[in-house]
Amino acid sequence: MSAATRDAAGLRELLDELARVESGASRVVSAYLTTRWADEQQRERTRVFIKQALTAARADAIDGDLLDDLEWVEVEGERLVAQSELPAAAGVALFACRPLGLRVRRPFRIPCDERFVVGDRPALAELARLATEAAPLLVVFVDGEHARLISVGVAGDQDEIDLRHDVIGRHRQGGWALLAQSRYHRHIEATRARHFDAVADAVASTCEARGIDHLVLAGEDRAVALFRKHLPPPAAARVVGTVPGTRYETASNLVARALDLVAEAVKGEHAVVVTAVLVDAAKGGRAVAGMESVLDAVGRGAVHRVFVARGLDAPGRRCVQCGAVQPGADARCRRCGGATRAISLADEVVARVIADGGAVAVVASPALSEVGGLAAQLRYPL
Ligand SMILES: [Zn+2]
Repeated sequence: MSAATRDAAGLRELLDELARVESGASRVVSAYLTTRWADEQQRERTRVFIKQALTAARADAIDGDLLDDLEWVEVEGERLVAQSELPAAAGVALFACRPLGLRVRRPFRIPCDERFVVGDRPALAELARLATEAAPLLVVFVDGEHARLISVGVAGDQDEIDLRHDVIGRHRQGGWALLAQSRYHRHIEATRARHFDAVADAVASTCEARGIDHLVLAGEDRAVALFRKHLPPPAAARVVGTVPGTRYETASNLVARALDLVAEAVKGEHAVVVTAVLVDAAKGGRAVAGMESVLDAVGRGAVHRVFVARGLDAPGRRCVQCGAVQPGADARCRRCGGATRAISLADEVVARVIADGGAVAVVASPALSEVGGLAAQLRYPL
């Protein structure tokens, strides 16, 4: 698949696909770059970061395929730093492995935590963070007669459609009779309900079609509260919250407010869940905390959702013979005595949990860091 085709593919699908890449003989290059800079100095820092990483990787490279991959990353990196490609992106992830036919370039609307890894599978912890924090979003402005649906993609791309319902009977206002007035209002209310139903239907199908998890409603409180009642339950469950907004406001204003709201909501949800998981783990419930316990649960395929501290940089080893993953730098497997290879524990855990059908949350949480940077909700008690 070409880089361009991959750009359009869903992020979750990409994460699933990369998590299923079996660790093998081929080396996979993963690079996360920040591509929005406040000044030239910052841009230069990214340029130097790429250059140094490539020099180090080339020094260790023993096969032509890897050199080819590094060459591709270098060319992509130069274009990104020069902003001749993807100038609107704040961050870009690159994955390359020629033997697997892998050449992926994904832009993001938020900066990446810069990393450059050559390993025997893709480094996915940062991609998992981006999948949550840069998830596609739908902002819905609604009033009694109009709606604006603004879709915001992973890369920050915006699309807007306007839906309007010309309320029939509006211009017949002015009757003296109470009967006429009440009939008029009843008609208007009925029409408004139909308008809200129609908008709700459009919103629900957009969420389905575009894989949108986060819905933000915008508008005047009363209209939004009325509209919300018309959303079918699956769409209602995706509502993160409401922001103020007017019909003639620019889309970028509404979107900026919505993005702030979502960022706060994700942070809040993570904080609450991490606290609950740590309490559960301490009680010996369906949760575990700490490196050894989580690695054990991952090895048994028992993880429902794993929580990884953002930026967790813990070295580990994977047994070439039995596949066991352990922390530290032992050259021999603790379980079978087989030879081991160096890995990043965070990336390994993320890839394994996703490949097993579990979920991942990469969270900036001091409480999580205190227990070694890993905790998990389990499918069943161990
Ligand atoms: Zn082993």
